[in-house]
Amino acid sequence: LTLDESDPPVDGSALVARALAAAGVRHMFGVVGIPVTAVATRAVAAGVRFLAFHNEQSAGYAASAYGYLTGAPGVLLTVSGPGCVHGLAGLSNAAANAWPTVLISGSCDQADFGKGDFQELDQIAAVKPFVKLAVKAARVADIPPLVREVLAVAAAGRPGGCYLDLPSDVLHETIPESEAAMLLAAPANPRVGQIRDPETLEIENAVSLLRRAERPLIVFGKGAAYARAEDALKKLIDTTGIPFLPTPMGKGLLPDTHELAASAARSLAIGRCDVALVVGARLNWLLHFGEPPRWSKDVKFILVDISKEEIELRKPHIGLVGDAKRILNLINEEIKDDPFCLGRSHPWVEAISKKVKENAAKIEAQLGKDVVPFNFFTPMRIIRDAILAEGSPAPILVSEGANTMDVGRAVLVQNEPRTRLDAGTWGTMGVGLGYCIAAAVASPGRLVVAVEGDSGFGFSAMEVETLVRYQLPVVVIVFNNGGVYGGDRRSSDEITGPYKDDPAPTSFVPNAAYHALIEAFGGKGYVAATPQELKSALSESFSARKPAVINVIIDPYAGAESGRLQHKN
Ligand code: ADP
Repeated sequence: LTLDESDPPVDGSALVARALAAAGVRHMFGVVGIPVTAVATRAVAAGVRFLAFHNEQSAGYAASAYGYLTGAPGVLLTVSGPGCVHGLAGLSNAAANAWPTVLISGSCDQADFGKGDFQELDQIAAVKPFVKLAVKAARVADIPPLVREVLAVAAAGRPGGCYLDLPSDVLHETIPESEAAMLLAAPANPRVGQIRDPETLEIENAVSLLRRAERPLIVFGKGAAYARAEDALKKLIDTTGIPFLPTPMGKGLLPDTHELAASAARSLAIGRCDVALVVGARLNWLLHFGEPPRWSKDVKFILVDISKEEIELRKPHIGLVGDAKRILNLINEEIKDDPFCLGRSHPWVEAISKKVKENAAKIEAQLGKDVVPFNFFTPMRIIRDAILAEGSPAPILVSEGANTMDVGRAVLVQNEPRTRLDAGTWGTMGVGLGYCIAAAVASPGRLVVAVEGDSGFGFSAMEVETLVRYQLPVVVIVFNNGGVYGGDRRSSDEITGPYKDDPAPTSFVPNAAYHALIEAFGGKGYVAATPQELKSALSESFSARKPAVINVIIDPYAGAESGRLQHKN
């Protein structure tokens, strides 16, 4: 081998790193090991921050949420075989939520595939159900164009997951620097097409339907948040006076405190509306499929979605295919020539506003009491007030759990876009710590607050070490009621058989010292069993902006089995 010093060799790992940096990737999440350790170290050298996790599952959840929060694909790096399989958690979560995410995984040596090589797996086949595109670099020169392609496809149209397979022989293969530079400088991938605007007539028809509606409603979801449609939505709602309902992650696009917010009158709003403009939200289980009995059987939907397939699926309802912000701007333009506004005394607006006030008063009455031992409401109110006291920029809230997430969704107030991350379309539990890390690096300077059930926290609790290692401004509040849904509440004669003395499948060790986990790594832990203890832990940890875990002791008998989804369990 002769070395040309003026044209040194570049290996596959360095090429991946440089291709990512050249494509504008700023962060990568993952777990290092054979054969990708050098990909991570080279990425750091190329200016890509690498967030090293304990498990690829959490790193994958982080990558998916990062894609949602930034609009640029989150990148997950995994080792071959089992690492890739763990990473599927993140990739599948990205697919279900329609978030742009790229999994880059090492794989075994191509020459040894099929012979039982170390961590051998047909990874292209394994990722198939969860990706828009899966490609393998068969030689080192494939790397730059494939990196560009997976990044572009993940973010194009309806966002989702893409996969790039990097066999270990390819990572070790070299090309001269001159060739690498040429490959890296090539233009972006042309495969990604543009979406055409809907016809003018389609926009006119949609507006005319809204205009003629007696009880119109605007529903928006995390697709509208992803599209950064908040200004266009605000304009539409302010000019027309139409009440609105955010989905859980749509919360905050318009302030929850807006006078047209119908969240506290959700059943009335969806049960009685006659025309619903649904922006960036699927008519899936979260919206009761858009069907009776929750919706009126005569409701007409106008769906705005980037995905043509989604619109096709919901026919005969009307659909406008395109980017939410773009379409809302076209709708606003159309309305401008002949404006209409419901006004506060419109019977529909009045009915919703009356119901909102009644329901809000009921929940406030429940929240106002200081119940000790804690139920879910008392600590949630204290947390709500502490978050609101932070002002703007509002903290990013991460929420998971059954009862904790349900109660949190109703009580915690979102006043800024993209400030809520939760179990999402797939009801994925265990996302909390990964989402916290993604939020902290995606939005530097913002406080991140996780409000989690003890079960949700347990899925990825080891990542508290990751919080401490990177000194991220994340406060994790654990609602500790000793189990999934709650502590052991069986009566002793309920269960028979040889294992009847085992704790119930839903229960954990009572009074677990979750705060001690973070202390083991030098982070700050708090226990809070009373309002005063919780208030002081929140005030101290919010102002410190350092990794902390607050272990909130909840009555093990508080909380319902399956939260609000009892009928499914
Ligand atoms: P939610 O959980 O808030 O109800 P969903 O995940 O069900 O939201 O729906 C989000 C929808 O938004 C998806 O159907 C997706 O195709 C769509 N979407 C994603 N990006 C955009 C965009 N830029 N403009 C419009 N729709 C989008």
